[in-house]
Amino acid sequence: STLYRIDNWGAPYFAVNDSGNITVRPHGSSTLSHQEIDLLKVVKKASDPKSVGGLGLQMPLIVRFPDVLKNRLESLQSAFVSAIQTQGYESRYQGVYPVKCNQDRFVVEDIVKFGTPFRFGLEAGSKPELLLAMSCLCKGNPEALLICNGFKDAEYISLALLARKFQFNTVIVLEQEEEVKLVIDISKKLSVRPVIGLRAKLRTKHSGHFGSTSGEKGKFGLTTNHILRVVKDLHDSDMLDCLQLLHFHIGSQIPSTALLQDGVSEAAQIYSELTRLGADMKVIDIGGGLGIDYDGSKSGNSDLSVSYSLEEYASAVVNAIQVVCDRKSVKHPIICSESGRAIVSHHSVLIFEAMSTTDTAPSMNQINLPFIELSEDARSDYWNMSDAVMRHDNETCLFYADQLKQRCVEQFKEGSLGIEQLAAVDGLFDLVTKTIVETEPVRTYLVNLSIFTSIPDFWSIGQIFPIVPIHRLDQKPEVKAILSDLTCDSDGKIDKFIGGEANLPLHKPGNGQYYLGMFLGGAYQEALGGVHNLFGSPSVVTVLQSDGPHSFAITHAMSGPSCADVLRVMQHEPKLMFENLKHRAEEFCGIDAGSCLASTVARSFQNMPYLEPRSSCSLTAMNNGG
Ligand code: PLP
Repeated sequence: STLYRIDNWGAPYFAVNDSGNITVRPHGSSTLSHQEIDLLKVVKKASDPKSVGGLGLQMPLIVRFPDVLKNRLESLQSAFVSAIQTQGYESRYQGVYPVKCNQDRFVVEDIVKFGTPFRFGLEAGSKPELLLAMSCLCKGNPEALLICNGFKDAEYISLALLARKFQFNTVIVLEQEEEVKLVIDISKKLSVRPVIGLRAKLRTKHSGHFGSTSGEKGKFGLTTNHILRVVKDLHDSDMLDCLQLLHFHIGSQIPSTALLQDGVSEAAQIYSELTRLGADMKVIDIGGGLGIDYDGSKSGNSDLSVSYSLEEYASAVVNAIQVVCDRKSVKHPIICSESGRAIVSHHSVLIFEAMSTTDTAPSMNQINLPFIELSEDARSDYWNMSDAVMRHDNETCLFYADQLKQRCVEQFKEGSLGIEQLAAVDGLFDLVTKTIVETEPVRTYLVNLSIFTSIPDFWSIGQIFPIVPIHRLDQKPEVKAILSDLTCDSDGKIDKFIGGEANLPLHKPGNGQYYLGMFLGGAYQEALGGVHNLFGSPSVVTVLQSDGPHSFAITHAMSGPSCADVLRVMQHEPKLMFENLKHRAEEFCGIDAGSCLASTVARSFQNMPYLEPRSSCSLTAMNNGG
């Protein structure tokens, strides 16, 4: 566990048990040891049709732990409650979950359920997100906020106003100046008194990747001039009392509390000014940005890590608002945050098989170098290289090995060297680098996964997540590896890991399956993933503890989309496709044989696009070309 820094990024939810398997503590470190859930057992039960109660789901697999969600929500709430009590703050914290982080129905429903005792609400950034938020909040606390963010048209605003009519505690947050006129007009038409917020464009800018849209020139929100014009419009329409909330968002993954305090103080000044201008201000909504320490370094100096705890975050926010409001004699506002990443990141683990590995360096007796066909220059490189080996002159040896290889590649391209000879030279080169320079070759493990579907942030913005074998952690890994996915795309590989490593220590796959887990990916990855190469989303199971030591129950299981499902996404019609293929089979193979062969095709439509489990790990590594 030290090798993979599990204690650093995984605590209090993930640890390693005596069998060398990852265990999950869904209630955090307060979980009693006999209540820990062995992740390997969950995976076996979900995927193995032969195990008792096994579900036979195809990999890859997302394992959700609703209790982790509950613990995250409660920890966030109690961090604010304690900061508020300690600092004598005279209002409360009332958060919302931004559904964009993970819109999965069960995730959102669970958050609403677990947050009901403390009025936890939802944030929507589009019309479908608003529809799902309204529907999920039907079972929530009536005081829970329903924050409507994002760019809005008349339809979005009408929907949000209807939500107010339906007694949801809806706030329409103005993102652009033009929206205010629509809100004034439509609310009059619908006879609803809206509650309005506005999103301020702060000067405070965060320098990390996620801060690129913040600051004065940022994409979102209203400038001071916009704000003053909105105030005037509302005042002229006798609706200034409707303006009750100030929102800002300086970017996800805020690296330090110093930057956070800077932004919150600036926003608190705007809040106080709005009060002075006559708005009936009640809530300050500090947006998202509460970060995750993906590498467990607590360094806070990159998008990978933050330097504060939940408690320090809450304390910095409460303090910054209190100082400004006290100075301006403004009543302390309700503090709302839209923390997404911090709530959902830990709750799920993506499990996938590492299916194969290549041993790049053959042994000397496997190398049969036919000198006959080598050019004079190449032969002299070979002798110079051998000479350097005798003298233990590694640098010279590598130089001639490299030169020999280059020359042979040229000869091959010209057509004067056969593939057997080139293979022999490649083997010789690998052997030299391995044995003489003593660098362990990095092996490529093929993983039964699409990075574009399941870890899109790695491909798009270089976000690194902890990836760890979920078993055999009591054995020393022997291999350095990079991971290559199933897509025909050269970007479909993972060659950066936490701790700045360019490879991942892994075990040699034995006879059984070798499972890796990607952790802390519960936010954004499912929402952003695409269907590159028509690989669809993974299967999903939801896991709760059950009675008895080390027991768990799979309370919900869902196979990932089949080939037919993903084909439908791109407007193909699997039924019609199958009929066409069946006719063709019957035409060319005869009616009986054809219809029998067509049933094999039918099965492919029904199965998931990923590789079926293999018992052996003998595939050679893929060279992705594309
Ligand atoms: N609120 C708004 C307006 C956002 O744009 C985002 C995400 O970027 C969030 C909340 C969630 O941020 P985070 O996941 O960092 O908590």
